[in-house]
Amino acid sequence: ADEHLQEGDLGPEQHGLIITHFGTQVVVESIDAPGAHKRCHFRSNLGSLVTGDRVVWRDGNPYGVVVAVLPRETELSRPDPHGDMKTIAANIDRLIIVIAPYPEAHANLVDRYLIAAWTIGIEPVLLINKVDRIDDATRDKMTTLENTYRKLGYTVLKISTQTGEGLDVLTGYLSQFTSVFVGQSGVGKSSLINALLPDANLRVGELSERQQGNHTTTNARLFHFPGGGQLIDSPGIREFGLWHMDADQVLEGFAEFRPFIGYCKFRDCSHRHEPGCAILAALEKGDISQTRMDSYRYILSTLAQ
Ligand code: GDP
Ligand code: ZN
Repeated sequence: ADEHLQEGDLGPEQHGLIITHFGTQVVVESIDAPGAHKRCHFRSNLGSLVTGDRVVWRDGNPYGVVVAVLPRETELSRPDPHGDMKTIAANIDRLIIVIAPYPEAHANLVDRYLIAAWTIGIEPVLLINKVDRIDDATRDKMTTLENTYRKLGYTVLKISTQTGEGLDVLTGYLSQFTSVFVGQSGVGKSSLINALLPDANLRVGELSERQQGNHTTTNARLFHFPGGGQLIDSPGIREFGLWHMDADQVLEGFAEFRPFIGYCKFRDCSHRHEPGCAILAALEKGDISQTRMDSYRYILSTLAQ
């Protein structure tokens, strides 16, 4: 892309935010004029730029140029078709884990997302959607889930995209952060994002048609919520999962286990049956619940496959 740089025609350096990226080009938003978007080339020595990157850029005609990238606070990655990890978005503050009474919420899935959030250093939030659908068959389970994660110190929000219950609290919460929504299919992520981004032009599906012609893009895109805060979204991000994790990350991903890590008698303790195991002692004492212990063991067992 360097042959496109025409130093003479470029404006002064300014700060910007990467809204989305397409191969050799990115869409940059000026920090001074939010909403003003400019297609930019970028110098090849910058490596890859991703949605959410904060940059220094110079305006130009027809394209601007990104000249520097600021250090990333967080990175969200997923494997590309070759199995190599590829960063798809940067500087995300909150991983919003969406669950619902229907389809049934699997505690293991929540715990997997919590491990992922811990591993990548993004604060997770549990968002219970479809509270209007909580019935006698699901009430106890949802209450237990809510109490379990609140007690562990996580933020839990309850909403209904359908009735609008809790949406004001959610909007206020989101206004402070750059968030992504994740969760299993059918929990209401699309409905929720459509409700929070009333401007239909900003939605992901329509964006890919508009900007990419007949090609569908899976590239992430940044949106501003009308009430403040940012959303980074793409079909790929909504399906974000845990691709690379090792046993240590799983262990540390269980927040209430952390105070006991490193205190087992044996360095290579498997926390199953060893004498002097600090994790098992915490389980015995009730500092770790049997449910979370079972979830830990289950997730660990899936690593081997
Ligand atoms: P996604 O797969 O996570 O993006 O989920 P969708 O947004 O496609 O929603 C799945 C289904 O749940 C749709 O039929 C929605 O209308 C429905 N849905 C979404 N939010 C709510 C809600 O708060 N209450 C109820 N009852 N249904 C909802
Ligand atoms: Zn142990």
